[in-house]
Amino acid sequence: MKGFTPPPRLALSNEPLPITRSITIGEGVSVKDLAEKLGVRAKDLIARLLMKGVMATVNQSLDFELAKDLARHFGAESEAISFEDQTAQEMASLAGTTVETAAAAAVTRPPVVTIMGHVDHGKTSLLDAIRETDVAGGEAGGITQHIGAYKVKITKEDSPAFGRQIVFLDTPGHEAFTRMRARGAKVTDIVVLVVAADDGVMPQTLEAMDHAKAAKVPIIVAVNKIDKPEALPDRVKKQLADRGLMPEDWGGTTVFVDVSAKKRTNLNLLMEMICLVADLQDLKANPERPGTGTVVEAKVDRGRGVVATVLVQNGTLRVGDNFIVGNTFGKVRAMFDDRSKAVEEAPPSTPVEVLGLEGLPQSGDMLLVADREKARQIAEYREQRAREATLAKSSKLSLEGLAEQIKTAGMKELPIILKADVQGSAEVLADTLTKLSNEKVKIKILHTGVGAINENDVLLASASNAVIIGFNVRPERKAQELAEMEKIDIRLHSIIYELQDQIKKAMLGLLEPIIKETYMGRAEVRETFRVPKAGTIAGCYVLDGTIKRDSDVRLVRDGVQVFKGRIGSLKRFKDDASEVRNGMECGINLQNFNDVKKGDVIEAFVTERIAAEMGVA
Ligand code: GDP
Repeated sequence: MKGFTPPPRLALSNEPLPITRSITIGEGVSVKDLAEKLGVRAKDLIARLLMKGVMATVNQSLDFELAKDLARHFGAESEAISFEDQTAQEMASLAGTTVETAAAAAVTRPPVVTIMGHVDHGKTSLLDAIRETDVAGGEAGGITQHIGAYKVKITKEDSPAFGRQIVFLDTPGHEAFTRMRARGAKVTDIVVLVVAADDGVMPQTLEAMDHAKAAKVPIIVAVNKIDKPEALPDRVKKQLADRGLMPEDWGGTTVFVDVSAKKRTNLNLLMEMICLVADLQDLKANPERPGTGTVVEAKVDRGRGVVATVLVQNGTLRVGDNFIVGNTFGKVRAMFDDRSKAVEEAPPSTPVEVLGLEGLPQSGDMLLVADREKARQIAEYREQRAREATLAKSSKLSLEGLAEQIKTAGMKELPIILKADVQGSAEVLADTLTKLSNEKVKIKILHTGVGAINENDVLLASASNAVIIGFNVRPERKAQELAEMEKIDIRLHSIIYELQDQIKKAMLGLLEPIIKETYMGRAEVRETFRVPKAGTIAGCYVLDGTIKRDSDVRLVRDGVQVFKGRIGSLKRFKDDASEVRNGMECGINLQNFNDVKKGDVIEAFVTERIAAEMGVA
């Protein structure tokens, strides 16, 4: 065709190649290995890295993002896989294992159980009682040591589950459970939800239920304290049935067992039920493989060095094995079971104390038997990444350090994320603040919004090194936690001129003493009562921390502060209380404020004045 002009050609070196293949990139891949995978020369990779401003040698480890970017440039889509996955794949291909042979080698392993439930419903008592049943049942070895998990065997001879074993994690409650899960660890196979028959379903019962459900772990309900004359096990059944846990004998699928930890009633039955539910899940593991497991707890012990309780989940861990665990590595010098007995090997579903670690791992870290050199290399790479991450966080922008950063880092911009209670204020504030820009620093409003400061705001601030300002709004609890972790400066104000003043002074490096609020606790308003003379009493449940009689408080509704002041009265039942803690109910009356509504949150805090350093601009 006439007049056709071919598309312009760009220099090849800068133009990414079309994607023609896909590769997998292992953790901490070296320049050399990546070049091999891509089928290009290492020096081409190094040249490309230089263009991106990265000086690298052939043996240098690259992080996923960079490696991915390079691969794309050289025409390959890439998938990042962790060292754990990579090793699993290599092992499978070495052994020539197919899915079928792997399945054939797998044997049934004991289930791992976490006990959850409301405070004082008997979690600890139940754990202790079960442990003792076993010991009393004639098992040699004596007293169980607390190592974070223990294994019991059903020793009742006429039991259909005679001889079977169950592992119990020894830190009851859903906090530890979810913390582990947040680290990517899946340890628990079954949750036993303990509900006291005399008390019934309570807030933490429901929380525990939600956590177990979120983790897709089956629940067995242990209705405890049935020895008590005021026990009403059927009421518990009814309450839970209403919330989706329908008992088997009422046509549902949830197993309920009436127990008494105190009188040791039905403990064998509970264990049989655990085995039954475990069978439905078909829990399998292959003891022939090299061991893998998860750290349940870890500590530094005088004389013994680092001691980690590891729950072996698959394969067998043996004395002499080299391994990687989280950011560290080691060689199994010795292992002890939950009765402090030295063991040579630990098959699947066995908790053991492991000696011989080079560093302290965290609970939830995965342990994996691996070649010593490789384990050391990956551990060092992870450790370095972790250090970099902390460094990056501590250099985040804060208002106090602003003048310093302008001076030393030649900072020219102050990025701000602004959240306000109403759109109007947000606009006015954005405008006012932008006008504060001077020849040295330009104020840049990255984002304005209405409502509580949420996690997305914090992530945005973290990614763009910004400060968050809340005007008549509060951070959501999760956002607050994330901000603490990411070291994001959040400033809360309710008076425009104060805010203006603070920013001005920050720019001059003359930040006045700031008022620091220390968070104490939080209670949710579940009910309100009008009491003549006293005003509105809010029937509250303390969600976390502590509410003190003399703390400052704010009332938050849908993330917006509607009142700030003091507590008028704090009561537990009919009595005055000086403080009410996490998990308890109380009545709160706010001084000079009666418009409290169900669903509001009362936050308690203490205010301190902190003198900021008087820097010089
Ligand atoms: P946790 O906070 O859930 O770990 O609860 P605990 O195990 O500490 O038990 C709380 C209280 O309930 C303790 O005083 C126990 O003695 C008591 N308790 C636990 N189980 C039973 C039981 O089966 N019957 C009776 N009567 N009391 C129990």
